[in-house]
Amino acid sequence: MAASLTKEALKEFAFSQGLDLVGVANIERFENAPPRMHPAAIFPEARSVIVVARRIIRGNWRGIEEGTHWPNYTYFGYHGLLNTLFIPAGVYETACFIEDHGWEAVPYYPGVPETQPPIEPLRPGAVAPNVHLAIRIAATAAGLGECGWSKVFLTKRFGPRQRLAAIITDLELEPDPLVEPGSLCDRCMECVRGCPSDAIPHRREGKVVRIQIEDKVYEWGDVDMGRCTLSFHGGDATVSPFLHKSFPGWEFDVSKQRVSEDRAYKICWPFSLGAWRQTEEDPSGFIVEGHSQIARWGVGGSYAVGGSRGCMRSCFNHLDARGKTECPYHNAPFVRRDRWILPCRVPLEEERQGETE
Ligand code: SF4
Repeated sequence: MAASLTKEALKEFAFSQGLDLVGVANIERFENAPPRMHPAAIFPEARSVIVVARRIIRGNWRGIEEGTHWPNYTYFGYHGLLNTLFIPAGVYETACFIEDHGWEAVPYYPGVPETQPPIEPLRPGAVAPNVHLAIRIAATAAGLGECGWSKVFLTKRFGPRQRLAAIITDLELEPDPLVEPGSLCDRCMECVRGCPSDAIPHRREGKVVRIQIEDKVYEWGDVDMGRCTLSFHGGDATVSPFLHKSFPGWEFDVSKQRVSEDRAYKICWPFSLGAWRQTEEDPSGFIVEGHSQIARWGVGGSYAVGGSRGCMRSCFNHLDARGKTECPYHNAPFVRRDRWILPCRVPLEEERQGETE
């Protein structure tokens, strides 16, 4: 017979494993989820989805905000260690703890549901493979917070500064209360003003995504994920001095592009991480040497160039300064100096010389 396990004991254990936030959704809260994003498609007997978060420390962004140091964010705040070690270690230990009590626990690493290829189900009537949860919606269902206008997930404790993962289990737990819609994001539009690629619509454009969980309706801006991905993953010269160095004279205005998120990945990853022959012009052989170096710092192979200028930095600068997170910093605000942004194209050396002659 399975040993009993209370939600309180479960949370206490998860916190002891370094996880900062833990929330519980019952499976009924996913009734509006598409089949290929439904937890029961992974584990049909699932009764609860436990969503966890670990903070991204604010100092991760300091180097990018000052325009002086990039690797920290990829390494500590994104894929390098946070997503591939710090969070999974806590998730795995918590899943072991649940299984020690006789319940099955599926540790879930958040994938990307936008890129599910068309595949036939492996069994008639079953859901096709490559099921991924929409982790931010799962976190909303678990009462951890809600998506802000920028679609970045906000919590009362950290604002936009956390990353998420989950455990799907047949252990039945009392769900946590849902956050009141609109209670964390005040629609200040700082994210819109701070976004270098014009990816986040202003609220007056009326581009809104809506979901319903129980009787609550959550809304956020319909973000252009193609532009967002181009900017974040190294296709945007306004936030990448490395692009200017490797491609002087290059002109590519991300804010004018209309591409899908998937195609944006297909552009950025081979471009940022690829290599060609070593030449005098490019002794390293890398296509964009600076981007490749950032990726090689990490352990998960991913990399972040854009540093979430609007959706994260502008947002927590706003929320921290107004006491709308539970993170008092002695030296607030985060943004203390004029912010840098590069032109989409830097004039070539010969053009600059021509101007001064
Ligand atoms: S900056 Fe943050 S709080 Fe302000 S509108 Fe954007 S998501 Fe909401």
